[in-house]
Amino acid sequence: MSVKDRITQWVRPEVQALSAYHVADAAGLIKLDAMENPFDFPAALKAELGADLRDAAINRYPDPDAGAIRAALRELYSLPDAVDMLFGNGSDEIIQILAMAVAGPGRTILSVEPSFVMYKMIATFIGAEYVGVPLNDEFQIDAQATLDAIKRHQPALVFIAQPNNPTGNLFDDETLRQIVALSPGLVVIDEAYTAFTDADYMSWASEYDNVVVMRTFSKVGLAGLRFGMLFGAQEWIEQLNKVRLPYNINCLTQNAVLTAIRHFPAFVKQTEALREQRSWLSAKLEEVAGVSVYPSEANFILVRVDLPAKSVFSEMKKRGVLIKLLDGGHPKLAGCLRLTVGSHEENEAMLKALIEALESVRG
Ligand code: PMP
Repeated sequence: MSVKDRITQWVRPEVQALSAYHVADAAGLIKLDAMENPFDFPAALKAELGADLRDAAINRYPDPDAGAIRAALRELYSLPDAVDMLFGNGSDEIIQILAMAVAGPGRTILSVEPSFVMYKMIATFIGAEYVGVPLNDEFQIDAQATLDAIKRHQPALVFIAQPNNPTGNLFDDETLRQIVALSPGLVVIDEAYTAFTDADYMSWASEYDNVVVMRTFSKVGLAGLRFGMLFGAQEWIEQLNKVRLPYNINCLTQNAVLTAIRHFPAFVKQTEALREQRSWLSAKLEEVAGVSVYPSEANFILVRVDLPAKSVFSEMKKRGVLIKLLDGGHPKLAGCLRLTVGSHEENEAMLKALIEALESVRG
């Protein structure tokens, strides 16, 4: 039997039908495609980071509960005693843990669309039904359609990214409360972009017994570490912990996270600079003819161009700037590009590349 035949016979058909998560090659380009913080680990802290990594007990398995991080985060986020935590190798792994805990025949995972693609991908990986309810044309939640879908499908899990990726906006609070009230299972408020908004849903983790709040250090400047967090009632965390692989947070990550938490104000300073850059960039983009700019509470800006977006994307790449092409990913994202907010120099270069690309495509 050939390898191809074995694959056809044994790899689950829904996995065979998937395309792997695509990561663009950014070699030699200004990288504004993945919502990374453009600033390096603060230079003044690098020696301390080096010492903390050197001192890691690398011959031993790491602390399975990451107890020191637990205590540090409790203080950093002023968590009430009733809120417990679970950590993942990025919040991607937490999405997978949540999905694995509920998956089974007839179980549904629901989100809105367009939103973070991993909700749907992971639902598919683990063999759950996935329902994506379209957002309206302003990228707000269509309350009626979403509540109807929750009633009909009785989802085990609902994922809401707040603010949303790739649209950048916050959803209306009242609609979210209705979703929580009607959901029979668990609602995950994904605050991946919390550093770039004043909105804060952490209190919902104690206010509602079917809400958990997810965060990540990726967008704050530590994407390379892969460290995500889930906050919720102890009863939920206890169940989720059963499907988490032991030692999923390695000891180097644990030590680096502790260094970062000790110096969190340095990262807050970087994210504040990015918020200023977001305002500057939004205002500049508004002046560009043929570009519609969507409001953003995250470290990226969604724009729609009145020309073939794929050509604009390619022309920008030719000029040394990598952004994210969204056109083609979802019908509501026709003509859309997602621009990560970078340093001032990067943003200037991106803006110049965009203007030139538009001119070139317009011909
Ligand atoms: N949630 C949302 C809304 C995101 O946009 C992302 C990253 N693009 C993630 C979760 C995953 O983040 P990470 O795995 O790096 O923590």
